[in-house]
Amino acid sequence: MQYHKHEAVIVGAGGAGLMAALYASKSVDTAVISKLYPTRSHTGAAQGGIGAALANLEEDHWEWHAYDTVKGADWMGDEPEIEFMCREAIDVVIELEHMGLPFDRTPEGKIAQRPFGGHTNNITKKPVRRAAHAADRTGHMILQTLYQQCIKNHVHFYDEFQVIDLLINDGKAVGVVAYEIATGELHVFHAKAVLFATGGFGRMWKITSNAHSYTGDGNAIAARRGIPQQDLEFFQFHPTGIRGMGILITEGVRGEGGVLINNEGERFMDRYAPTVKDLASRDVVSRAIYLEVKAGRGINGEDWVWLDVRPETVNYYFERDDIRNPDGTPRRIDADYIRKKLPDIADFTKTYLGIDPVKDPMPVQPTAHYAMGGIPTNVHGQVLIDEKETPLPGFYAAGECACVSVHGANRLGTNSLLDLVVFGRSAGKHMAAYCQEVDWAPLPEDAGQEAEAMLEYIRNNDGSEQVAQLKTELQQIMTDNVSVFRTQELLDEAIEKIQALRERYKHISIQDKGKTFNTDLLQAWELGNLLDLALLTATSAAARTESRGAHARDDYPERDDEHWMKHTLAWLQPDGSVKLAYKPTRRIKNPDGTYKYPAIKRVY
Ligand SMILES: Cc1cc2nc3c(=O)[nH]c(=O)nc-3n(C[C@H](O)[C@H](O)[C@H](O)COP(=O)(O)OP(=O)(O)OC[C@H]3O[C@@H](n4cnc5c(N)ncnc54)[C@H](O)[C@@H]3O)c2cc1C
Repeated sequence: MQYHKHEAVIVGAGGAGLMAALYASKSVDTAVISKLYPTRSHTGAAQGGIGAALANLEEDHWEWHAYDTVKGADWMGDEPEIEFMCREAIDVVIELEHMGLPFDRTPEGKIAQRPFGGHTNNITKKPVRRAAHAADRTGHMILQTLYQQCIKNHVHFYDEFQVIDLLINDGKAVGVVAYEIATGELHVFHAKAVLFATGGFGRMWKITSNAHSYTGDGNAIAARRGIPQQDLEFFQFHPTGIRGMGILITEGVRGEGGVLINNEGERFMDRYAPTVKDLASRDVVSRAIYLEVKAGRGINGEDWVWLDVRPETVNYYFERDDIRNPDGTPRRIDADYIRKKLPDIADFTKTYLGIDPVKDPMPVQPTAHYAMGGIPTNVHGQVLIDEKETPLPGFYAAGECACVSVHGANRLGTNSLLDLVVFGRSAGKHMAAYCQEVDWAPLPEDAGQEAEAMLEYIRNNDGSEQVAQLKTELQQIMTDNVSVFRTQELLDEAIEKIQALRERYKHISIQDKGKTFNTDLLQAWELGNLLDLALLTATSAAARTESRGAHARDDYPERDDEHWMKHTLAWLQPDGSVKLAYKPTRRIKNPDGTYKYPAIKRVY
């Protein structure tokens, strides 16, 4: 076993991890450990944009952005934290610009912005141009820019090292244990502070936009170390994944004017969201597709619809709805414009469907996309371990694996990239200050031994269960029972079936017993993470007897503010059961005692 020592250790090299590393490395010795080469992180797949009320093309205010986020979150987000994010958004996007991020530009040279779901002018209620973007490769550009900045700042990178355990001693986080993928060697990292920025866990569903690496490693490690997971019942299904594959077609397509069409040739979002139509929030649009399919109006009676961004279709609806440019002229687009604004989409649809989006509509269906829940934190990224919000000294989390909570029950598009850089920055700063303040705490005496024993168990077990088979069954259960619409019966059945899979998981065996690039071993370990998180997700969902945001229950169709304006905390118990507790959502009051954001029914 090898030993390393760095004051700040960051696990994950996506947008959140790199932004935190950049800020921590300004004052303390900082290392980033990543199972992927940094620029392969899922942030690089983000397409559409990053939200900030820059008001470059039309009137906009961070307060409008905050209200849209509260509303999008279906009043499950914490309002002071939402205000913090939306206020910081403007400054942080300009900071990215100054680091060299090549945003698209307006003719005057300002950062270009486009409309996105749920982002509105709060007065007219119409979509507002708030998503700053670099074509449809915004995440790619963020990742490259931040990586370059980290290299410049001499951050130490441990690439293709997979963290498999968190070390806690005497109530403080003091390091991690990592597996070097190339050699199979274990490494203990001793740290003053550890930050998890390990991304999401959409791979527990069959149809997902998420990378293969999205197996919730950080969340599962934390859960096994007694740290709760917050609000896992809220998992976002993005309305437009490529049919059958789940590969994402960005909401930017609808931002540029694209529309959803059913088997009758109808633009059905007219009925579900009369004001913003196809730009309603994602939970609303995903449910609309599901209901169209259920009513037999899926294409050919199947479980998918068309997404149409052909200029003739877009211009028809621009004319019908009298959509105008900022200068008041009627808005019209052509094929060249679409190709320039959505080059990667044109590329994906050509590769995976053999079609050109300016000539043909795209077949789409909802795809498992984003974890609103995760490791509970405050705005400084400090991990909170109970309903009294006690921080665990030295432990931080940021990005998709964390839950601040700014996304509540449903995240607005563009708010995740924003979350990464805003909370990555504040966590990096807090972590550095903490490292400068505290002395080194010792590692536990047996550091690394539990992790080693766990891997050896998987490597040497000779049971009859296969990893691929268990994973397929898990994905089927989650797709059938814990999807866009849920019921008590479906959720209870899911819990039972997941528990049975967790039992069978104890009897897995792998074929590769070697040390070099043993992906068999790591995939088996990752499946264990997905199983634990699936159990926590289904249990949290089964307990929430209301419909809110992405958590839609056929048997409890209404939002129940009287009983459920509270966050779920779910602990994985050593005996394999789940313990639940709740804490109230944080709301802001006016001086006269009324709520600043009164909880109204969402109408789009
Ligand atoms: C296809 C797609 C398009 C999207 N488009 C947008 C968009 O336009 N706008 C928007 O706001 N949001 C978008 N999102 C959401 C957003 O991109 C993600 O939520 C966000 O990028 C997650 O960033 P992160 O830093 O938390 O994690 P990631 O970027 O996923 O990085 C995770 C890191 O953790 C590392 N890691 C994980 N486990 C381990 C381990 N065990 N040991 C070591 N390292 C580990 C990985 O190597 C990786 O470096 C999109 C998401 C997808 C999937």
